[in-house]
Amino acid sequence: MKKLFLCCTLLAATSFPQLSFAWGADGHQTVGAIADSLLNGTKAGAQVKALSGDQNLEKISVWADCVKGVSPEKDFAYTSAGRYPECASFETANGIAAMVDYVKRNNSTCHPATGEESCHKQYHYADVSLQHTHYQTGYTGTSDHDVVHAIRAAALVLQDKPQPSPFNIKDKAEALALITHYIGDIHQPLHVASVFLNADGKIINPDEVANDKSNNTVGGNALQCPYGNFHSLWDDLPGPFKHGRMNATLTKKARTLGLANAPIDQLPVLWADDAIRDASLVFGGAQFSKSTQNQYGSNWSIGLPLEYEKTMQNVKEDALARAGAHLAQILQAIWPE
Ligand SMILES: [Zn+2]
Repeated sequence: MKKLFLCCTLLAATSFPQLSFAWGADGHQTVGAIADSLLNGTKAGAQVKALSGDQNLEKISVWADCVKGVSPEKDFAYTSAGRYPECASFETANGIAAMVDYVKRNNSTCHPATGEESCHKQYHYADVSLQHTHYQTGYTGTSDHDVVHAIRAAALVLQDKPQPSPFNIKDKAEALALITHYIGDIHQPLHVASVFLNADGKIINPDEVANDKSNNTVGGNALQCPYGNFHSLWDDLPGPFKHGRMNATLTKKARTLGLANAPIDQLPVLWADDAIRDASLVFGGAQFSKSTQNQYGSNWSIGLPLEYEKTMQNVKEDALARAGAHLAQILQAIWPE
């Protein structure tokens, strides 16, 4: 089959792995905006207004990424002031103090191993091997502080229940910002699922064969094109979806979705299962090179089918609508009419 290194052309000047933000601000704000619309006139909608200081889910959806501007290695200074427009409203003296305080509380409580990220950064994802059909704690790439557990912890705080360690969520306002963001993340397939490769670029299942850290493509961050990585390709929204231009269409779609009837603590597992299912589309028809080494570890190149851009846009559209519907669903389960 003819292959095209598609991401080379789409990612002319993209970020390094450490800087990638799931969905980008546009995607998270879209998920928040869909849920804002669905909750309009509901008891949950009134709670959102009260807890967000008269803001909305769209505005607070990016807070969990903005806090990444706090640098523990620089004495917890906030170092990205003025850099991200979506973070500007949090960059008051009180707002910065709140971000610093959150990061201090959630920096090392999970005891990161050498080379692992600050705990709060790990709350945004899991790396479940795509051969699995379901998320299960204990699989390679899961932890007690992955995105499934982070959504559960935030939901517990919103229900006035104790949260498990290592989470340290201060109050309901903080929990609302976090759950809004993480529900966006859990619907980005590469924030839940990952492909594990050996040095020859062959797919392996890390839960069945011996493997080590060098086999993990880290949610696609270790899959490279000359100017970018595969994870960023999936974080980016297609042009027509940017700046909220598709919010009305996606909200309409979100209203038509059938929602699983499950207890609050089981919902994030079901959503993770959906993301793992989407990962089979993400990697469908992909080809991988042998691995090479760079400063981040093992890397592979990925080749994609020619029709890939359309597949990707369909998956993203569906995932954003589902994320908005699911965010509204869990908040209505927490604050029923
Ligand atoms: Zn995130």
